[in-house]
Amino acid sequence: MRERTGWLVAVGVAGAAMAAFARARRAARRAPPPPGAPRIVLVGAGFAGLNAARALAGRPVQVTVLDRRNHHLFQPLLYQVATAALSPGDIAAPIRHVLRHQRNAEVLLGDVARVDVAARAVVLDDGTRVPYDALVVATGATHSYFGHDDWAPLAPGLKTLEDALEIRRRVLSAYERAERESDPAARTALLTFVIVGAGPTGVELAGALAEIARHTLTADFRHIAPESARVILLELAPRVLPTYPERLSEAARRQLERIGVEVRTGAQVTAIDPEGVEIAGERIASRTVLWAAGVAASPLARGLGVALDRSGRVEVRPDLSIPGHPEVFVAGDLARIVQDGVPVPGVAPAAIQAGRRAARNALQRVRGRPTRAFRYRDKGTLATIGRAAAVGKVRGIELTGLPAWLAWLGVHIAFLIGFRNRVAVLLEWAWSYATFKRGARLITETAGQRRLEERAGAAPPRPPGAEPEARA
Ligand SMILES: Cc1cc2nc3c(=O)[nH]c(=O)nc-3n(C[C@H](O)[C@H](O)[C@H](O)COP(=O)(O)OP(=O)(O)OC[C@H]3O[C@@H](n4cnc5c(N)ncnc54)[C@H](O)[C@@H]3O)c2cc1C
Repeated sequence: MRERTGWLVAVGVAGAAMAAFARARRAARRAPPPPGAPRIVLVGAGFAGLNAARALAGRPVQVTVLDRRNHHLFQPLLYQVATAALSPGDIAAPIRHVLRHQRNAEVLLGDVARVDVAARAVVLDDGTRVPYDALVVATGATHSYFGHDDWAPLAPGLKTLEDALEIRRRVLSAYERAERESDPAARTALLTFVIVGAGPTGVELAGALAEIARHTLTADFRHIAPESARVILLELAPRVLPTYPERLSEAARRQLERIGVEVRTGAQVTAIDPEGVEIAGERIASRTVLWAAGVAASPLARGLGVALDRSGRVEVRPDLSIPGHPEVFVAGDLARIVQDGVPVPGVAPAAIQAGRRAARNALQRVRGRPTRAFRYRDKGTLATIGRAAAVGKVRGIELTGLPAWLAWLGVHIAFLIGFRNRVAVLLEWAWSYATFKRGARLITETAGQRRLEERAGAAPPRPPGAEPEARA
Protein backbone atom coordinates (compact mmCIF):
# COMPACT_ATOMS: atom_id res chain seq x y z
CA MET A 1 0.00 0.00 0.00
CA ARG A 2 2.80 2.39 1.05
CA GLU A 3 4.67 1.47 -2.14
CA ARG A 4 1.65 2.38 -4.26
CA THR A 5 1.23 5.74 -2.49
CA GLY A 6 4.93 6.42 -3.09
CA TRP A 7 4.44 5.82 -6.81
CA LEU A 8 1.39 8.07 -6.93
CA VAL A 9 3.29 10.91 -5.20
CA ALA A 10 6.22 10.49 -7.61
CA VAL A 11 3.92 10.55 -10.64
CA GLY A 12 2.09 13.61 -9.25
CA VAL A 13 5.33 15.52 -8.63
CA ALA A 14 6.66 14.64 -12.09
CA GLY A 15 3.36 15.75 -13.68
CA ALA A 16 3.35 19.06 -11.78
CA ALA A 17 6.99 19.70 -12.76
CA MET A 18 6.24 18.99 -16.41
CA ALA A 19 3.19 21.28 -16.35
CA ALA A 20 5.24 24.08 -14.70
CA PHE A 21 7.98 23.62 -17.32
CA ALA A 22 5.43 23.77 -20.17
CA ARG A 23 3.86 26.93 -18.62
CA ALA A 24 7.28 28.58 -18.28
CA ARG A 25 8.10 27.68 -21.90
CA ARG A 26 4.78 29.07 -23.10
CA ALA A 27 5.33 32.27 -21.12
CA ALA A 28 8.85 32.60 -22.57
CA ARG A 29 7.50 32.11 -26.11
CA ARG A 30 4.92 34.80 -25.45
CA ALA A 31 7.47 37.33 -24.13
CA PRO A 32 7.43 40.69 -25.93
CA PRO A 33 10.71 41.85 -27.50
CA PRO A 34 12.97 43.97 -25.24
CA PRO A 35 13.11 47.69 -26.19
CA GLY A 36 15.58 48.37 -29.00
CA ALA A 37 15.77 44.68 -29.95
CA PRO A 38 17.23 43.98 -33.41
CA ARG A 39 14.65 43.51 -36.14
CA ILE A 40 14.41 40.35 -38.24
CA VAL A 41 12.10 40.74 -41.22
CA LEU A 42 10.53 37.66 -42.83
CA VAL A 43 9.08 38.09 -46.32
CA GLY A 44 6.46 35.44 -47.14
CA ALA A 45 4.44 33.42 -44.62
CA GLY A 46 4.29 30.15 -46.50
CA PHE A 47 5.81 26.98 -45.07
CA ALA A 48 9.30 28.50 -44.82
CA GLY A 49 8.33 31.97 -43.54
CA LEU A 50 5.78 30.81 -40.98
CA ASN A 51 8.15 28.24 -39.52
CA ALA A 52 10.91 30.84 -39.46
CA ALA A 53 8.63 33.10 -37.41
CA ARG A 54 7.80 30.31 -34.98
CA ALA A 55 11.48 29.42 -34.57
CA LEU A 56 12.02 32.95 -33.25
CA ALA A 57 9.22 32.80 -30.65
CA GLY A 58 10.39 34.18 -27.30
CA ARG A 59 13.77 35.26 -28.71
CA PRO A 60 14.99 38.78 -27.88
CA VAL A 61 14.30 40.14 -31.38
CA GLN A 62 11.48 42.07 -33.07
CA VAL A 63 10.06 39.83 -35.81
CA THR A 64 8.17 41.43 -38.71
CA VAL A 65 6.28 39.05 -40.99
CA LEU A 66 5.31 40.51 -44.37
CA ASP A 67 2.96 38.80 -46.81
CA ARG A 68 0.86 40.01 -49.73
CA ARG A 69 -1.98 37.77 -48.53
CA ASN A 70 -3.53 37.67 -45.09
CA HIS A 71 -3.50 33.87 -44.96
CA HIS A 72 -1.06 31.00 -44.77
CA LEU A 73 -2.02 28.46 -47.41
CA PHE A 74 -1.63 24.69 -47.21
CA GLN A 75 -0.77 24.19 -50.91
CA PRO A 76 -0.68 20.37 -50.83
CA LEU A 77 -4.48 20.33 -50.49
CA LEU A 78 -5.21 23.04 -53.09
CA TYR A 79 -6.27 20.42 -55.62
CA GLN A 80 -9.04 19.38 -53.23
CA VAL A 81 -10.44 22.93 -53.36
CA ALA A 82 -10.01 22.95 -57.15
CA THR A 83 -12.02 19.74 -57.37
CA ALA A 84 -14.74 20.80 -54.92
CA ALA A 85 -13.88 18.40 -52.09
CA LEU A 86 -12.81 21.10 -49.62
CA SER A 87 -13.60 24.78 -49.13
CA PRO A 88 -10.94 27.52 -49.07
CA GLY A 89 -11.28 28.05 -45.30
CA ASP A 90 -10.39 24.39 -44.68
CA ILE A 91 -6.87 24.78 -46.01
CA ALA A 92 -5.94 28.35 -45.11
CA ALA A 93 -5.53 30.22 -41.84
CA PRO A 94 -5.07 33.95 -41.16
CA ILE A 95 -1.35 34.55 -40.47
CA ARG A 96 -2.23 37.10 -37.78
CA HIS A 97 -4.29 34.48 -35.96
CA VAL A 98 -1.62 31.76 -36.25
CA LEU A 99 0.94 34.07 -34.62
CA ARG A 100 -1.44 35.74 -32.15
CA HIS A 101 0.35 34.43 -29.04
CA GLN A 102 3.82 35.27 -30.29
CA ARG A 103 4.29 38.73 -28.76
CA ASN A 104 7.63 39.44 -30.44
CA ALA A 105 6.06 39.03 -33.90
CA GLU A 106 4.03 41.59 -35.86
CA VAL A 107 2.23 40.74 -39.10
CA LEU A 108 2.03 43.29 -41.91
CA LEU A 109 -0.06 42.85 -45.04
CA GLY A 110 2.00 44.16 -47.94
CA ASP A 111 3.33 43.32 -51.37
CA VAL A 112 7.11 43.46 -51.40
CA ALA A 113 8.36 45.06 -54.61
CA ARG A 114 12.11 44.78 -53.96
CA VAL A 115 14.83 44.43 -51.40
CA ASP A 116 17.33 47.29 -51.03
CA VAL A 117 20.20 45.12 -49.79
CA ALA A 118 22.62 48.06 -49.65
CA ALA A 119 20.36 50.10 -47.33
CA ARG A 120 19.04 47.01 -45.49
CA ALA A 121 15.39 47.75 -46.19
CA VAL A 122 12.47 45.95 -47.78
CA VAL A 123 10.48 48.16 -50.16
CA LEU A 124 6.72 47.61 -50.55
CA ASP A 125 4.83 48.34 -53.78
CA ASP A 126 3.44 51.56 -52.27
CA GLY A 127 6.98 52.77 -51.54
CA THR A 128 6.92 52.02 -47.78
CA ARG A 129 10.36 50.98 -46.53
CA VAL A 130 10.71 48.38 -43.78
CA PRO A 131 14.27 48.38 -42.36
CA TYR A 132 15.89 45.18 -41.07
CA ASP A 133 18.97 43.97 -39.22
CA ALA A 134 18.56 40.51 -40.75
CA LEU A 135 16.21 39.33 -43.46
CA VAL A 136 14.70 35.99 -44.51
CA VAL A 137 13.17 35.97 -47.99
CA ALA A 138 10.74 33.07 -48.58
CA THR A 139 8.37 34.14 -51.33
CA GLY A 140 8.12 30.71 -52.97
CA ALA A 141 7.49 29.98 -56.61
CA THR A 142 4.90 30.63 -59.28
CA HIS A 143 3.87 28.96 -62.61
CA SER A 144 6.16 28.83 -65.58
CA TYR A 145 4.70 28.45 -69.07
CA PHE A 146 8.17 27.95 -70.58
CA GLY A 147 8.04 31.18 -72.57
CA HIS A 148 4.35 30.81 -73.53
CA ASP A 149 2.83 33.30 -71.10
CA ASP A 150 -0.09 33.71 -73.52
CA TRP A 151 -1.21 30.19 -72.42
CA ALA A 152 -1.82 31.36 -68.84
CA PRO A 153 -5.45 32.53 -69.27
CA LEU A 154 -6.25 29.43 -71.37
CA ALA A 155 -4.69 26.87 -69.02
CA PRO A 156 -4.72 28.07 -65.41
CA GLY A 157 -2.17 26.65 -62.98
CA LEU A 158 -2.65 25.83 -59.32
CA LYS A 159 -0.73 27.89 -56.76
CA THR A 160 -3.18 30.10 -54.88
CA LEU A 161 -6.73 29.87 -53.54
CA GLU A 162 -7.86 32.10 -56.43
CA ASP A 163 -6.34 29.59 -58.89
CA ALA A 164 -8.15 26.72 -57.18
CA LEU A 165 -11.51 28.52 -57.28
CA GLU A 166 -10.98 29.40 -60.93
CA ILE A 167 -10.26 25.75 -61.80
CA ARG A 168 -13.31 24.62 -59.83
CA ARG A 169 -15.45 27.15 -61.69
CA ARG A 170 -14.16 26.04 -65.10
CA VAL A 171 -14.61 22.32 -64.40
CA LEU A 172 -18.14 22.63 -62.99
CA SER A 173 -19.15 25.15 -65.70
CA ALA A 174 -17.98 22.73 -68.41
CA TYR A 175 -20.51 20.12 -67.20
CA GLU A 176 -23.26 22.76 -67.01
CA ARG A 177 -22.56 23.96 -70.53
CA ALA A 178 -22.39 20.39 -71.84
CA GLU A 179 -25.85 19.73 -70.38
CA ARG A 180 -27.26 22.53 -72.59
CA GLU A 181 -25.15 21.78 -75.69
CA SER A 182 -26.87 20.06 -78.61
CA ASP A 183 -23.88 19.76 -80.97
CA PRO A 184 -22.16 16.41 -80.20
CA ALA A 185 -18.65 17.62 -81.13
CA ALA A 186 -18.95 20.72 -78.93
CA ARG A 187 -20.33 18.57 -76.11
CA THR A 188 -17.39 16.15 -76.39
CA ALA A 189 -14.96 19.09 -76.21
CA LEU A 190 -16.75 20.37 -73.10
CA LEU A 191 -16.48 16.93 -71.51
CA THR A 192 -12.76 16.56 -72.28
CA PHE A 193 -10.42 17.70 -69.52
CA VAL A 194 -6.71 17.98 -70.32
CA ILE A 195 -4.04 18.31 -67.66
CA VAL A 196 -0.58 19.28 -68.83
CA GLY A 197 2.18 17.89 -66.59
CA ALA A 198 2.17 14.62 -64.64
CA GLY A 199 4.11 15.64 -61.56
CA PRO A 200 2.34 15.22 -58.19
CA THR A 201 -0.10 18.11 -58.84
CA GLY A 202 -1.08 16.86 -62.31
CA VAL A 203 -1.55 13.31 -61.04
CA GLU A 204 -3.70 14.49 -58.11
CA LEU A 205 -5.84 16.72 -60.34
CA ALA A 206 -6.33 13.98 -62.96
CA GLY A 207 -7.32 11.40 -60.33
CA ALA A 208 -9.82 13.75 -58.69
CA LEU A 209 -11.37 14.82 -62.04
CA ALA A 210 -11.80 11.17 -63.03
CA GLU A 211 -13.56 10.46 -59.73
CA ILE A 212 -15.88 13.43 -60.18
CA ALA A 213 -16.86 12.14 -63.63
CA ARG A 214 -17.25 8.47 -62.67
CA HIS A 215 -18.83 8.83 -59.23
CA THR A 216 -19.78 12.27 -57.96
CA LEU A 217 -21.85 13.59 -60.86
CA THR A 218 -23.34 10.42 -62.34
CA ALA A 219 -26.90 10.97 -61.08
CA ASP A 220 -27.03 14.76 -61.37
CA PHE A 221 -27.52 15.41 -65.10
CA ARG A 222 -30.31 14.52 -67.54
CA HIS A 223 -28.84 15.17 -71.00
CA ILE A 224 -25.23 14.07 -70.58
CA ALA A 225 -23.50 11.07 -69.07
CA PRO A 226 -20.77 12.60 -66.87
CA GLU A 227 -19.00 9.22 -66.71
CA SER A 228 -18.31 9.53 -70.45
CA ALA A 229 -16.02 12.53 -69.76
CA ARG A 230 -12.41 12.08 -70.83
CA VAL A 231 -9.60 13.05 -68.47
CA ILE A 232 -6.30 13.20 -70.35
CA LEU A 233 -2.98 13.59 -68.54
CA LEU A 234 -0.09 14.75 -70.76
CA GLU A 235 3.55 14.44 -69.77
CA LEU A 236 6.65 15.29 -71.79
CA ALA A 237 8.89 12.85 -69.85
CA PRO A 238 8.67 9.12 -70.59
CA ARG A 239 6.79 8.42 -67.34
CA VAL A 240 4.41 10.03 -64.86
CA LEU A 241 5.88 11.35 -61.58
CA PRO A 242 9.30 11.62 -63.30
CA THR A 243 11.16 12.43 -60.05
CA TYR A 244 9.83 9.32 -58.27
CA PRO A 245 11.43 5.84 -58.45
CA GLU A 246 10.49 4.06 -61.69
CA ARG A 247 8.47 1.35 -59.93
CA LEU A 248 6.27 3.98 -58.27
CA SER A 249 5.75 5.81 -61.58
CA GLU A 250 4.52 2.54 -63.09
CA ALA A 251 2.23 1.90 -60.11
CA ALA A 252 0.85 5.45 -60.38
CA ARG A 253 0.16 5.00 -64.09
CA ARG A 254 -1.70 1.75 -63.46
CA GLN A 255 -3.80 3.30 -60.70
CA LEU A 256 -4.62 6.32 -62.87
CA GLU A 257 -5.67 4.14 -65.79
CA ARG A 258 -7.77 1.97 -63.52
CA ILE A 259 -9.90 4.99 -62.57
CA GLY A 260 -10.25 6.03 -66.21
CA VAL A 261 -7.51 8.61 -66.78
CA GLU A 262 -5.91 8.52 -70.25
CA VAL A 263 -2.18 8.87 -69.61
CA ARG A 264 0.04 10.03 -72.47
CA THR A 265 3.75 10.26 -71.82
CA GLY A 266 6.38 11.66 -74.22
CA ALA A 267 3.70 14.17 -75.23
CA GLN A 268 4.94 17.69 -75.95
CA VAL A 269 2.26 20.37 -76.01
CA THR A 270 3.00 22.72 -78.91
CA ALA A 271 -0.10 24.92 -78.83
CA ILE A 272 -3.03 25.81 -76.57
CA ASP A 273 -6.01 27.83 -77.76
CA PRO A 274 -9.62 28.25 -76.59
CA GLU A 275 -10.65 25.14 -78.57
CA GLY A 276 -8.04 22.71 -77.23
CA VAL A 277 -4.40 21.64 -77.30
CA GLU A 278 -1.97 20.45 -79.92
CA ILE A 279 0.64 17.75 -79.34
CA ALA A 280 3.18 17.66 -82.17
CA GLY A 281 0.54 18.22 -84.86
CA GLU A 282 -2.22 16.14 -83.24
CA ARG A 283 -5.22 18.06 -81.94
CA ILE A 284 -7.28 17.33 -78.81
CA ALA A 285 -10.51 19.33 -78.66
CA SER A 286 -11.01 20.42 -75.06
CA ARG A 287 -12.64 23.43 -73.38
CA THR A 288 -10.86 22.85 -70.06
CA VAL A 289 -7.07 22.71 -70.06
CA LEU A 290 -5.19 22.86 -66.75
CA TRP A 291 -1.50 23.59 -66.32
CA ALA A 292 0.61 21.57 -63.89
CA ALA A 293 3.88 21.57 -65.79
CA GLY A 294 6.39 24.17 -64.67
CA VAL A 295 7.45 26.34 -61.78
CA ALA A 296 9.49 29.53 -61.69
CA ALA A 297 10.86 31.18 -58.58
CA SER A 298 9.24 34.35 -57.24
CA PRO A 299 10.48 37.40 -59.18
CA LEU A 300 11.73 38.99 -55.94
CA ALA A 301 14.90 36.92 -56.34
CA ARG A 302 15.97 38.99 -59.36
CA GLY A 303 16.48 42.12 -57.28
CA LEU A 304 18.87 40.51 -54.80
CA GLY A 305 21.81 40.94 -57.18
CA VAL A 306 23.06 37.35 -56.84
CA ALA A 307 23.35 34.32 -59.13
CA LEU A 308 20.08 32.54 -59.99
CA ASP A 309 19.54 29.11 -61.55
CA ARG A 310 17.45 28.46 -64.68
CA SER A 311 14.18 28.57 -62.71
CA GLY A 312 15.17 31.86 -61.08
CA ARG A 313 16.01 30.36 -57.69
CA VAL A 314 18.73 31.92 -55.53
CA GLU A 315 21.99 30.00 -55.27
CA VAL A 316 22.44 30.24 -51.50
CA ARG A 317 25.50 29.52 -49.37
CA PRO A 318 25.49 26.48 -47.05
CA ASP A 319 24.02 28.55 -44.18
CA LEU A 320 21.26 29.82 -46.56
CA SER A 321 22.67 33.37 -46.72
CA ILE A 322 23.39 35.05 -50.03
CA PRO A 323 26.90 35.84 -51.25
CA GLY A 324 28.05 39.31 -50.22
CA HIS A 325 25.23 39.82 -47.70
CA PRO A 326 25.57 37.52 -44.71
CA GLU A 327 22.52 39.19 -43.07
CA VAL A 328 20.17 38.12 -45.92
CA PHE A 329 18.87 34.54 -45.99
CA VAL A 330 16.69 32.77 -48.55
CA ALA A 331 14.56 29.69 -47.74
CA GLY A 332 11.90 27.43 -49.24
CA ASP A 333 11.08 27.12 -52.94
CA LEU A 334 12.96 30.34 -53.67
CA ALA A 335 16.33 28.85 -52.67
CA ARG A 336 18.44 26.46 -54.69
CA ILE A 337 20.18 24.24 -52.18
CA VAL A 338 22.48 21.46 -53.31
CA GLN A 339 23.16 18.72 -50.79
CA ASP A 340 25.58 15.85 -51.50
CA GLY A 341 25.52 16.87 -55.16
CA VAL A 342 21.71 16.64 -55.44
CA PRO A 343 19.29 19.62 -55.34
CA VAL A 344 16.96 19.65 -52.32
CA PRO A 345 13.41 19.23 -53.71
CA GLY A 346 10.78 22.00 -53.68
CA VAL A 347 8.52 20.36 -51.12
CA ALA A 348 6.89 21.49 -47.88
CA PRO A 349 9.17 19.60 -45.43
CA ALA A 350 12.27 21.10 -47.09
CA ALA A 351 10.72 24.60 -46.84
CA ILE A 352 9.81 24.05 -43.17
CA GLN A 353 13.29 22.85 -42.26
CA ALA A 354 15.05 25.59 -44.26
CA GLY A 355 12.76 28.28 -42.79
CA ARG A 356 13.72 27.22 -39.26
CA ARG A 357 17.44 27.10 -40.05
CA ALA A 358 17.34 30.49 -41.82
CA ALA A 359 15.61 32.06 -38.79
CA ARG A 360 18.10 30.57 -36.33
CA ASN A 361 21.00 31.75 -38.49
CA ALA A 362 19.47 35.24 -38.78
CA LEU A 363 19.31 35.31 -34.97
CA GLN A 364 22.94 34.20 -34.72
CA ARG A 365 23.90 36.92 -37.18
CA VAL A 366 22.26 39.77 -35.23
CA ARG A 367 23.94 38.43 -32.08
CA GLY A 368 27.31 38.39 -33.85
CA ARG A 369 27.66 34.63 -33.48
CA PRO A 370 28.61 32.00 -36.10
CA THR A 371 25.86 30.45 -38.25
CA ARG A 372 25.33 26.76 -39.06
CA ALA A 373 25.04 24.98 -42.40
CA PHE A 374 21.58 23.76 -43.40
CA ARG A 375 21.06 20.01 -43.70
CA TYR A 376 17.83 18.63 -45.20
CA ARG A 377 16.43 15.50 -43.57
CA ASP A 378 14.37 13.72 -46.21
CA LYS A 379 11.48 11.86 -44.58
CA GLY A 380 9.91 10.79 -47.88
CA THR A 381 7.45 11.83 -50.57
CA LEU A 382 3.84 10.89 -51.23
CA ALA A 383 1.46 11.58 -54.11
CA THR A 384 -2.22 10.68 -54.01
CA ILE A 385 -4.24 9.52 -57.00
CA GLY A 386 -7.71 8.89 -55.59
CA ARG A 387 -9.66 6.83 -53.09
CA ALA A 388 -7.25 4.38 -51.48
CA ALA A 389 -4.82 5.02 -54.33
CA ALA A 390 -1.44 6.70 -53.84
CA VAL A 391 2.29 6.09 -54.21
CA GLY A 392 5.20 7.20 -52.07
CA LYS A 393 8.48 6.50 -50.36
CA VAL A 394 8.57 6.92 -46.60
CA ARG A 395 11.84 6.42 -44.72
CA GLY A 396 13.23 4.44 -47.66
CA ILE A 397 10.19 2.14 -47.98
CA GLU A 398 8.22 2.27 -51.23
CA LEU A 399 4.45 2.24 -50.72
CA THR A 400 1.58 1.94 -53.20
CA GLY A 401 -2.23 1.69 -52.99
CA LEU A 402 -4.01 1.76 -49.64
CA PRO A 403 -0.95 1.93 -47.31
CA ALA A 404 0.42 4.89 -49.29
CA TRP A 405 -2.97 6.57 -49.23
CA LEU A 406 -3.34 6.12 -45.46
CA ALA A 407 0.17 7.54 -44.94
CA TRP A 408 -0.75 10.48 -47.20
CA LEU A 409 -3.94 11.08 -45.23
CA GLY A 410 -2.14 11.03 -41.87
CA VAL A 411 0.67 13.35 -42.97
CA HIS A 412 -1.69 15.90 -44.49
CA ILE A 413 -3.94 16.03 -41.45
CA ALA A 414 -0.94 16.30 -39.10
CA PHE A 415 0.61 19.23 -40.97
CA LEU A 416 -2.54 21.28 -41.51
CA ILE A 417 -2.41 24.54 -39.59
CA GLY A 418 -5.07 24.93 -36.91
CA PHE A 419 -7.17 22.44 -34.96
CA ARG A 420 -10.43 23.58 -36.64
CA ASN A 421 -8.99 22.86 -40.07
CA ARG A 422 -7.81 19.38 -39.04
CA VAL A 423 -11.21 18.40 -37.71
CA ALA A 424 -13.09 19.97 -40.65
CA VAL A 425 -10.92 18.26 -43.25
CA LEU A 426 -11.07 14.89 -41.50
CA LEU A 427 -14.88 15.05 -41.37
CA GLU A 428 -15.15 16.19 -45.01
CA TRP A 429 -12.90 13.32 -46.13
CA ALA A 430 -14.77 10.74 -44.11
CA TRP A 431 -18.05 12.02 -45.59
CA SER A 432 -16.84 12.07 -49.19
CA TYR A 433 -15.13 8.68 -48.77
CA ALA A 434 -18.37 7.12 -47.58
CA THR A 435 -20.65 8.85 -50.10
CA PHE A 436 -18.47 9.92 -53.08
CA LYS A 437 -19.99 13.39 -52.57
CA ARG A 438 -18.00 16.61 -52.89
CA GLY A 439 -19.41 19.24 -50.58
CA ALA A 440 -18.07 22.40 -52.25
CA ARG A 441 -19.58 22.12 -55.76
CA LEU A 442 -20.25 25.83 -56.13
CA ILE A 443 -19.71 27.88 -59.25
CA THR A 444 -18.68 31.39 -58.23
CA GLU A 445 -17.40 34.12 -60.50
CA THR A 446 -16.99 37.85 -60.63
CA ALA A 447 -17.85 40.09 -63.55
CA GLY A 448 -14.14 40.91 -63.90
CA GLN A 449 -13.20 37.23 -64.12
CA ARG A 450 -15.87 36.62 -66.75
CA ARG A 451 -14.66 39.54 -68.88
CA LEU A 452 -11.06 38.28 -68.67
CA GLU A 453 -12.12 34.85 -69.86
CA GLU A 454 -14.22 36.27 -72.68
CA ARG A 455 -11.26 38.32 -73.81
CA ALA A 456 -9.14 35.14 -73.85
CA GLY A 457 -11.89 33.44 -75.84
CA ALA A 458 -12.42 30.67 -73.27
CA ALA A 459 -16.10 31.48 -72.60
CA PRO A 460 -18.93 32.40 -74.94
CA PRO A 461 -19.94 36.06 -74.61
CA ARG A 462 -22.97 36.65 -72.43
CA PRO A 463 -26.06 38.03 -74.14
CA PRO A 464 -26.48 41.78 -73.53
CA GLY A 465 -28.10 42.50 -70.19
CA ALA A 466 -27.04 39.11 -68.81
CA GLU A 467 -23.95 40.39 -66.97
CA PRO A 468 -23.72 39.12 -63.34
CA GLU A 469 -25.18 41.69 -61.01
CA ALA A 470 -22.60 44.13 -59.67
CA ARG A 471 -23.70 45.38 -56.24
CA ALA A 472 -22.43 48.66 -54.91
C1 LIG B 1 -0.72 22.46 -55.91
C2 LIG B 1 0.50 22.14 -55.06
C3 LIG B 1 0.57 20.92 -54.41
C4 LIG B 1 1.67 20.62 -53.62
N1 LIG B 1 1.70 19.42 -52.98
C5 LIG B 1 2.73 19.15 -52.14
C6 LIG B 1 2.73 17.94 -51.38
O1 LIG B 1 1.80 17.11 -51.49
N2 LIG B 1 3.77 17.72 -50.54
C7 LIG B 1 4.79 18.62 -50.40
O2 LIG B 1 5.69 18.40 -49.60
N3 LIG B 1 4.82 19.75 -51.12
C8 LIG B 1 3.82 20.05 -51.99
N4 LIG B 1 3.82 21.21 -52.69
C9 LIG B 1 5.00 22.10 -52.61
C10 LIG B 1 4.96 22.97 -51.36
O3 LIG B 1 3.68 23.53 -51.19
C11 LIG B 1 6.01 24.05 -51.49
O4 LIG B 1 7.28 23.43 -51.58
C12 LIG B 1 5.99 25.00 -50.30
O5 LIG B 1 4.76 25.68 -50.25
C13 LIG B 1 7.11 26.02 -50.40
O6 LIG B 1 7.03 26.86 -49.29
P1 LIG B 1 7.55 28.37 -49.36
O7 LIG B 1 7.39 28.93 -48.00
O8 LIG B 1 8.88 28.42 -50.00
O9 LIG B 1 6.57 29.10 -50.39
P2 LIG B 1 5.00 29.29 -50.32
O10 LIG B 1 4.36 28.28 -49.46
O11 LIG B 1 4.59 29.38 -51.74
O12 LIG B 1 4.82 30.70 -49.62
C14 LIG B 1 5.23 31.90 -50.21
C15 LIG B 1 4.54 33.05 -49.49
O13 LIG B 1 5.12 34.27 -49.95
C16 LIG B 1 4.09 35.21 -50.20
N5 LIG B 1 4.60 36.14 -51.23
C17 LIG B 1 4.99 35.84 -52.48
N6 LIG B 1 5.45 36.94 -53.10
C18 LIG B 1 5.34 37.96 -52.21
C19 LIG B 1 5.63 39.34 -52.27
N7 LIG B 1 6.18 39.91 -53.35
N8 LIG B 1 5.37 40.10 -51.19
C20 LIG B 1 4.82 39.56 -50.06
N9 LIG B 1 4.54 38.25 -49.96
C21 LIG B 1 4.79 37.46 -51.02
C22 LIG B 1 2.92 34.37 -50.67
O14 LIG B 1 1.69 35.06 -50.50
C23 LIG B 1 3.05 33.14 -49.79
O15 LIG B 1 2.33 33.29 -48.59
C24 LIG B 1 2.74 21.55 -53.49
C25 LIG B 1 2.66 22.78 -54.16
C26 LIG B 1 1.54 23.08 -54.93
C27 LIG B 1 1.46 24.41 -55.63
